[in-house]
Amino acid sequence: MCVKLLPALKDNYMYLLIDEETKECAAVDPVEPEKVVKAVEEEKVKLTSVLTTHHHWDHAGGNEKLAEMVEKLTVYGGDDRIGALTNKVTHGDAFQIGKLQVKCMFTPCHTKGHICYFITGGSGEDPAVFTGDTLFMGGCGRFFEGSPQEMYKALVEILGTLPGNTKVYCGHEYTVSNLKYALHVEPDSADVKNKLEWAEKQRSIQKPTIPSTIQEEKQHNPFMRVRETAVQKHAGEEDPVQVMGILREEKNNFIPK
Ligand SMILES: [Zn+2]
Repeated sequence: MCVKLLPALKDNYMYLLIDEETKECAAVDPVEPEKVVKAVEEEKVKLTSVLTTHHHWDHAGGNEKLAEMVEKLTVYGGDDRIGALTNKVTHGDAFQIGKLQVKCMFTPCHTKGHICYFITGGSGEDPAVFTGDTLFMGGCGRFFEGSPQEMYKALVEILGTLPGNTKVYCGHEYTVSNLKYALHVEPDSADVKNKLEWAEKQRSIQKPTIPSTIQEEKQHNPFMRVRETAVQKHAGEEDPVQVMGILREEKNNFIPK
């Protein structure tokens, strides 16, 4: 499989997911349809599908226009508020993009209908997951329509149990500010310090910090680490769901230096 990053708007990422064997491809959160169509032409692939993570306009806002520009487009998503939706999916639903296997994971909290898409290809290839605004590098989305319990389930029980080598492709370039908060939570963590230093370097030369891996996120992302003693100490609470709520509340008001 091949994943092509397409930066959009201020700090969003759209992606092309390409099956190199059949040249079939899917667009993830194609908010800027012209950019997507241009990339599809450049890659000489056939766009058949859209994977929508959630209904927010900066992710789903290009669906209708793209459906007008591309014939017979299948639009997947988990929320009736998603434009041009043809195939509503829920947890465990599976389909293929060419020969790539796509598995849907229902991860409500940021929005009620949020879906992450887990992709596996041929043997020897690392899997990939498109996490929208649920899991970011070093952070997670705001709980607009859900509870700490739901984000705990999404990050720890669902995404956290994917293979460690799964590459994580998220919806926004928020890594540096997320890791500054992570360092506030765990000031002694070498994993956080190293990742932050690397991310700042990447951004200083206008390079993305995406992807990371599930294994890496478990080492530096405080929201995936709510069962760790150091994070619980920071929160002053041992129950991991409570810790999730406390961290989110603190992060909402955190101003990185
Ligand atoms: Zn969103």
